[in-house]
Amino acid sequence: MTVPFVDLKTQYQTLKPQMDRAIASVLERSAYVMATEHSEFEREFASYIGVKQCLGVSTGTDALELALRACDIGPGDEVITVPNTFIATTEAISVTGAAIRWVDVDPRTYNMNPDKIEAAITPRTKALLPVHLYGQPADMGPIMGIARRHGLRVIEDCAQAHGAKYQGQKAGTFGDVACFSFYPGKNLGAYGDGGAVVTNDEAIATRVRLLRNHGSREKYIHEIEGYCRRLDNLQAAVLRVKLPYLDAWNARRRDAAERYNERLAQVPGVVTPYVLPGTEPVYHLYVVQVPDRDQVRAALQSEGIETGIHYPVPLHQQPAYARYGHTAQDFLVSTTLGPRILSLPMFPEISESQIQQVVDALHKVIVKAGMVLI
Ligand SMILES: *Cc1c(COP(=O)(O)O)cnc(C)c1O
Repeated sequence: MTVPFVDLKTQYQTLKPQMDRAIASVLERSAYVMATEHSEFEREFASYIGVKQCLGVSTGTDALELALRACDIGPGDEVITVPNTFIATTEAISVTGAAIRWVDVDPRTYNMNPDKIEAAITPRTKALLPVHLYGQPADMGPIMGIARRHGLRVIEDCAQAHGAKYQGQKAGTFGDVACFSFYPGKNLGAYGDGGAVVTNDEAIATRVRLLRNHGSREKYIHEIEGYCRRLDNLQAAVLRVKLPYLDAWNARRRDAAERYNERLAQVPGVVTPYVLPGTEPVYHLYVVQVPDRDQVRAALQSEGIETGIHYPVPLHQQPAYARYGHTAQDFLVSTTLGPRILSLPMFPEISESQIQQVVDALHKVIVKAGMVLI
């Protein structure tokens, strides 16, 4: 039996009648751009997260860019974020003309280390951009404290954290503004690209509303020049069908993580995810550290078990950022994680026997080869 890394087909099968009806309704009405589904989804997602405003946009990357622009971030400014994230986080900073300032991650949580932030703040620093990576909330208490003391904006990258909680409050409600992706494999995924900006700040909401739709509130009246970055209405229809299931899917991801945790405790050398006290993660990814990662990954692959690496090369070591002149030593925790981390199969429908198969395969390869994590 093979174990896929994610399984979007099973989820569609469980939703098929409802989903097909929702899609057909859009087609029958030719309601393709900013129609009912678009505004209804915005209302429902804002209420789910617990914020006043949600603006549907084209992708998570665009959500980040528009949020940064709405905070007036541009040339001459610096934005602090982490090297251990997907490049979309920093692409969004660069396209505004601002510079990226990285701070290393916490060796337990793999998220922004609040203790590293203050040393990276300069007179040009405008904002902090923490990422709730793998669906584990970043340590927002201290991060918000630092932002307040230094008068910085906070933009949360929630692309992997739909529904995650920090001290009882949802990720996306802490900063000035937060950004979600609805890329198909995310915890709440469309059937194509999609994203959202959420905020309680009316000025930011107004600005994003203008920017995503050619600077226009009233058709053919353009208050500013903007972009064409709306959420596709067909995708909004898909997301509306899925949103009511998100909490149940996240709970199943947490159950699967619990099972992995218990069983992997018997496998020497495997480091399971650390959960920051007071947080409720949503396990977009279940990431472990293993010895001889590439060998372990190949062994699992040969048994039909798909895995991923998120992410093999931290951003400060990417060719795209050679201009910053960083070395591996600069953000040592991120550098060290790159060759050790392995993302195991994780999706709400993963079965008991699939989890056991992954654990057995890991046990076999690690114990047989006498590997140790160095
Ligand atoms: C997926 C992702 C994004 C970008 O979202 P897209 O919808 O693919 O543009 C941004 N940040 C993180 C951490 C992500 O995982």
